[in-house]
Amino acid sequence: MKILLLGKNGQVGWELQRSLAPLGELVAVGRDEGGLCGDLANLDGLAATVRQLAPDVIVNAAAYTAVDRAENEVELCHTVNALAPGVLAAEAARSGALLVHYSTDYVFDGSGQAPWREDAATGPLSVYGKTKLAGEQAIAAAACRHLIFRTSWVYAARGGNFARTMLRLAGECERLSVVDDQIGAPTGADLIADVTAHALRSLQYQAAPGGIYHLAAAGQTSWHGYASFVIALARETGVPLRVAADAIDAVGSAAFPAPAPRPKNSRLALQKIEQAFELTMPPWQAGVRRMLSEILGK
Ligand code: NDP
Repeated sequence: MKILLLGKNGQVGWELQRSLAPLGELVAVGRDEGGLCGDLANLDGLAATVRQLAPDVIVNAAAYTAVDRAENEVELCHTVNALAPGVLAAEAARSGALLVHYSTDYVFDGSGQAPWREDAATGPLSVYGKTKLAGEQAIAAAACRHLIFRTSWVYAARGGNFARTMLRLAGECERLSVVDDQIGAPTGADLIADVTAHALRSLQYQAAPGGIYHLAAAGQTSWHGYASFVIALARETGVPLRVAADAIDAVGSAAFPAPAPRPKNSRLALQKIEQAFELTMPPWQAGVRRMLSEILGK
């Protein structure tokens, strides 16, 4: 099996380089890879790369993910998140390749309290969410074999992340304010990459239907709950912190105005992916604990 991985340097792309490697011949590309175009803003170049490599599977981990900047960079965001997946899907339809793509809870409007099922009505609040939804629709319209994994609140040990920011602030400040009216599940890029590899392997042996699957860690929390968990774990492991345990204030989203509105309810229903691929998604705390022990070196 020949796999083309796009976006190899992102959080998920980096972990996919590891998890996809044993599945076959893996060609992993960033924006520009020794003459191969991996730039999703260059639609002709992207199509040429797929034709040149003729992969059996295309895994697209590249995306325009700067949610706030997207509000002012609509065209570029639309090209990368909507048009480029359409080009990949058209190439996959032409060659018979399988396209694996990632999408987001931001396709929903964040209303209610119930976990979103894959067939729930969408209603993105932001440019980023709208372009990611348009990308999903372009893939469906091309009618190629595809898997779209919608995920949420992605973190990785590598690079900056929410946990690192909270640990830095907890070391510097006596009080912290963290949003508690957005609910979701922090999901490790490593989990997303491992489930992707598992799904690809399963498809070789069973005909699980393609389409959209929600892929997130199990359970739910707020950003305040997430921060409190991270800070408590760091304290347990002896990291020196200035903030007291009772000085992490829960505040509403309005306390941190941002150009792009965030959905309040980012819960994703996991039954479909668990049944189709015989998986049990681990609780979000397990992955966050592991990531923390990696970044704290303990
Ligand atoms: P990252 O932002 O970590 O990685 C995105 C990658 O895409 C980066 O390597 C970036 O490169 C690359 N990229 C951006 N623009 C282009 C372009 N024009 N051509 C080629 N590459 C480009 O994102 P994640 O790994 O977190 O996201 C993976 C997927 O998951 C995406 O589809 C995202 O929409 C989705 N998702 C992410 C969530 C999150 O919380 N992060 C939540 C829900 C869904 P560079 O670094 O050079 O810009």
